[in-house]
Amino acid sequence: MKNLKLASRDTIEQTVIHVGDVAIGRDFVVMAGPCSVESEKQTLETAHAVKAAGADILRGGAFKPRTSPYSFQGLGLQGLKILDKARKETGLPIVTEVLDPRDVSWVAEFADILQIGTRNMQNFSLLKEVGTTRRPVLLKRGMFSTLEEWLNCAEYILSEGNPNVILCERGIRTFENYTRNTLDLSAVPAIKELTHLPIVIDPTHSTGRLSLIPPMSLASVAAGADGLLIEVHHDPSTALCDADQALTPDRFQLLMRQLRPLYAFMDTMNT
Ligand code: PEP
Ligand code: MN
Repeated sequence: MKNLKLASRDTIEQTVIHVGDVAIGRDFVVMAGPCSVESEKQTLETAHAVKAAGADILRGGAFKPRTSPYSFQGLGLQGLKILDKARKETGLPIVTEVLDPRDVSWVAEFADILQIGTRNMQNFSLLKEVGTTRRPVLLKRGMFSTLEEWLNCAEYILSEGNPNVILCERGIRTFENYTRNTLDLSAVPAIKELTHLPIVIDPTHSTGRLSLIPPMSLASVAAGADGLLIEVHHDPSTALCDADQALTPDRFQLLMRQLRPLYAFMDTMNT
């Protein structure tokens, strides 16, 4: 890909990003938690559950990019304070979305990883702003974007001086509507050919269907992904956002019990 300079595989073998106890790009990392921070109780209960199941990082949105302006928009600063409390109680680092370039510097004080959502993948002023911080950035693939467009967005962040970019495939729009999006699993080996940046899979937003999340999570491991981003809610029936696709803690725990041995097996195949 001709425009890639810093993101190109030619420059570095593999980027490894240290967050808490995990080395993203080397270890298999599981980021899990609710779609949005709804309350202290909901976030803490879910955080303790995902920690107990073996997750490495807690996810949760305080700023939500909703299709409708009338849907729950997130708790903002209050949500970040709740995430901070969850981090202190569980020891899990936090990944959370930032929507607006004006919020980047102060959200970066709460977040261990800044998430750029699919709808903002090509928000170039936002990309430049997160590029000026040293916080790792989880850059989700735009739902209408090619791999080349996505990697050029990573290049925007890298070229501002922030080398800590993690790519996240979260499904793209196709004619298929049984699933919420179409998971492009081939992005994993393709991205591995093109760049040294780690890539994780979001099986939740890409499928939008509970029954498909576990098999696609396992398939992500087999494809060589560096990790997963999964929505879990302590009581999905009450979730204010994406209730239909949140795993219960029990279901998540079962999945974790399947993921780790598969990853260990894949690791032995690769060494
Ligand atoms: C999310 O992960 O909270 C989210 C909004 O995902 P996406 O940007 O992929 O829709
Ligand atoms: Mn969601």
